[in-house]
Amino acid sequence: MSEVYSFKVKTSYRNHLVDITPQVKEIISKSGVKDGICVVFSSHTTGGITINENADPDVKHDILTELDKIVPLNDGYLHCEGNSAAHIKASLMGFSQTIIISDSKPVLGIWQDIYFAEFDGPRNRTVYVKIIEG
Ligand code: ZN
Repeated sequence: MSEVYSFKVKTSYRNHLVDITPQVKEIISKSGVKDGICVVFSSHTTGGITINENADPDVKHDILTELDKIVPLNDGYLHCEGNSAAHIKASLMGFSQTIIISDSKPVLGIWQDIYFAEFDGPRNRTVYVKIIEG
């Protein structure tokens, strides 16, 4: 039986893609699991988890800028908290990623990293990681 790991992420902007790959790699290493599956989960309604490019920072900028066009900050939303755009963008990203573990490492493309996708920051967030051996 394996435990559920977690770590904190501090986001700095309203919209912010924070690279969490080092924390996920460290948890996989700590678990001692060589082969299996890793689920990375955000327990928040306005912040998701995504995988995308780690090389050119303009890609992160373009993703966030385009999401702002698709889901404007104000668009006659009903939700009284005033952060419907953040809820919608987080749902578009999704709240978890499932990653293959091979040889004690996450299987990611050379240009891929794992990101916490903040849409209602800055905030302190928690990311959960469950590792299943197999
Ligand atoms: Zn809300």
